[in-house]
Amino acid sequence: MLRILENIQLKPYNTFGISAIARELVEIRSKEDAVELVKSGQFKGKLHLVLGGGSNVLFTADFDGLVINILNKGIHRVEETEDTVLVEAAAGEVWHDLVMWTVNHGLGGLENLSLIPGSVGAGPVQNIGAYGVELKDCFHSLNAIDLVSGNDRAFSKEECRFGYRDSIFKRELKGRMLIYSVTFRLSKVPMLKLGYGAIKQELEAMSVNKPTIADVSKAVCSIRISKLPDPAVTGNAGSFFKNPVVSAGKAEDLKKQYPEIPVYPQPDGTVKLAAGWLIEHCGWKGYRESDAGIHPKQALVLVNYGNASGLDIISLAGKIQNSVLEKFGVRLEMEVNVA
Ligand SMILES: Cc1cc2nc3c(=O)[nH]c(=O)nc-3n(C[C@H](O)[C@H](O)[C@H](O)COP(=O)(O)OP(=O)(O)OC[C@H]3O[C@@H](n4cnc5c(N)ncnc54)[C@H](O)[C@@H]3O)c2cc1C
Repeated sequence: MLRILENIQLKPYNTFGISAIARELVEIRSKEDAVELVKSGQFKGKLHLVLGGGSNVLFTADFDGLVINILNKGIHRVEETEDTVLVEAAAGEVWHDLVMWTVNHGLGGLENLSLIPGSVGAGPVQNIGAYGVELKDCFHSLNAIDLVSGNDRAFSKEECRFGYRDSIFKRELKGRMLIYSVTFRLSKVPMLKLGYGAIKQELEAMSVNKPTIADVSKAVCSIRISKLPDPAVTGNAGSFFKNPVVSAGKAEDLKKQYPEIPVYPQPDGTVKLAAGWLIEHCGWKGYRESDAGIHPKQALVLVNYGNASGLDIISLAGKIQNSVLEKFGVRLEMEVNVA
């Protein structure tokens, strides 16, 4: 029997450390719990929010509805070929625990995504990515429960419509599906991706000549720890904005005006810019307004120094967006989900 908790303080449930009260909260520990929740009609017509580790949400007010916290566990092999293994993980598993499981079993594919905070179930929602790899690269399928009909639904890679930090679950199906498991196709013969960021330099510093997936995972963890603020110390949700994608013409204009601007041409002819660089060059790095601020080492990370409200963070984000638009003519889109 599911227990609906009332008037729950959400501060420990979000890595920004924002104080907000949820009218109701329910913990889902199995697929059966999820089915029971939908069948009970508990939340029919009520505002609801599926919540994993809370590392990509910003609460801007109390939540006058039901928070559905996904906590189911389990990782297992489902199928094996000569070169690959299908591994299914429950949505409530901690993402990094899954990555460590795959690394410890010698299965390649997820090692560059080491130490990304949050749960497995949220990974496909924004197609998490880091160090030249995106979740979609190893994604096989996922299982979800339709929160309206209560029906089970399986989604293939094509059906998820993955994009840069994007999927169907952020668009047409926003808030509609409760993902309860995700299956990945992993490689027994890992193809290491070392060309992005400082992975090669880190491996050199570790005196590793012939890296394994475990070495790559270690290198990524060590780079991340040195670069990103720990949410346990300073509230944050990682990159607050997406890297903007502009036309080739616009990128050329910017390059003429700012020769040092980093540009990343995309296969479709567009050009990705570094949001952090744009923000830094508007002078925001290290800026602080009461308890809301921009991290002194990472201009892309907005932080809560203690008692900032979600609205304080949003207000600061708006000022940053305006100044980037004014100086560079580029619109920054938020990566964080605002609740
Ligand atoms: C320090 C730091 C570094 C980060 N670095 C990266 C990075 O390198 N790359 C990157 O891509 N992201 C990064 N992030 C963002 C974040 O870790 C990811 O977006 C992560 O996948 C969020 O997981 P979560 O469980 O915390 O999701 P939550 O914040 O709980 O939820 C995020 C969204 O997913 C939905 N959701 C969650 N679980 C489910 C489910 N089971 N079914 C349906 N919908 C669900 C929620 O409703 C919400 O809309 C970082 C965050 C922090 C704090």
